[in-house]
Amino acid sequence: MFPNVILIDHPVVQTKLTELRDYTADHRKFRTLLDEIAMLMTYEVTRDWPTTPRPVQTPLERTTGKILSRQVTLVPILRAGLGMADGVLKLLPDARLGHLGVYRDENTLEPVSYYQKLPPDIASTEVLLIDPMLATGGSGSAAVSYLKKAGVASMKFVCLVAAPEGIQALHAHHPEVPIYCAAIDRQLNAKGYILPGLGDAGDRIFGT
Ligand code: URA
Repeated sequence: MFPNVILIDHPVVQTKLTELRDYTADHRKFRTLLDEIAMLMTYEVTRDWPTTPRPVQTPLERTTGKILSRQVTLVPILRAGLGMADGVLKLLPDARLGHLGVYRDENTLEPVSYYQKLPPDIASTEVLLIDPMLATGGSGSAAVSYLKKAGVASMKFVCLVAAPEGIQALHAHHPEVPIYCAAIDRQLNAKGYILPGLGDAGDRIFGT
């Protein structure tokens, strides 16, 4: 439906996403489910990454295996992106973490950048930019622009729930960045929340 958007509609991911949307899920359950979904999504997100041959000695003989060609950097957009970081790290334990603090001004809905800390050699790594909700696309777009300025050439945007408005806004500025999501929801409401969505992801992760 949208070019360069990969919807991960795996039945296990969808089951967990449905449980996550349920308003009765408390922060403990929400965190656990988000962690599991992020881990499962990572398996699909990394599917096309290049590999390099690597000799390995088994107990019986020498053979050639494969390893990921490039280092990996996760960049959660603070604060809700942190809720997905541990799940991704379970599959990519050698990844480094950068942090981008971007919040949405509640009146203007415009992104405001307040914190940036990235690994110095991020430009030569595979980057996964993570944020559970792609709503207006303002924060995501600002984060992608920042990473491009830092020299990042290979990045993917990984979210849980995307709004059509957010996909359009992100791809209006950065059409070459693939968006991976577990759901494309109907629309945004007047306050920029995704409908049906799952509410405020940060509040639900951190119990605030
Ligand atoms: N951020 C959230 O946490 N939830 C939304 O629905 C939109 C943005």
